[in-house]
Amino acid sequence: MIPDNRSKYFVFVPFCLLSQAYQAEGLVKYEWKSSIKPIVQLLLDNNINIIQMPCAESSFNNNLIRKPMGLTKYNHKEFNAHCEKLATLVANEIKNIITSNYKVIAILGIEQSPSCCVNYIYTNHGNEKRKGLFIEKLHAKIQDYNIPIIGINRKYITKSFKQLESIIKKELEI
Ligand code: SF4
Repeated sequence: MIPDNRSKYFVFVPFCLLSQAYQAEGLVKYEWKSSIKPIVQLLLDNNINIIQMPCAESSFNNNLIRKPMGLTKYNHKEFNAHCEKLATLVANEIKNIITSNYKVIAILGIEQSPSCCVNYIYTNHGNEKRKGLFIEKLHAKIQDYNIPIIGINRKYITKSFKQLESIIKKELEI
């Protein structure tokens, strides 16, 4: 390959990490009106290539505007098939990057999302410990690569920031 100035590091982010307007109604409560700035800034400051994953919920109905709904409302055959299709596309992209000798250093989710959470999901009966419907399918397809999956918690952003920062420092040896 002809040498140039590119970064070979990648992070996959949920669509709404860059575009909060894709969140369900009433969920953009924190100070970031568009991108979740501290996380995006951390990636920019470290020259990480950012790949925006598709938004499972807005693309299911082809409409950004929706009420917030818990896991029980999304956990049905059609939505799971939709997530499966999107997870296959994202997993193939991750494989392309790795085959090209580049490095995917992390995948980010959004805590409490029925589709994109990593640790805690919103269920209409409180939170449960499990992965979201999209993230669980993506994880199943790429688990052999051992890529860290970090749930971004907008309420406790400092904790999420530190988790990602420590992975970046380790990978970039800084
Ligand atoms: S489905 Fe995922 S990308 Fe879409 S708004 Fe919810 S958390 Fe964000």
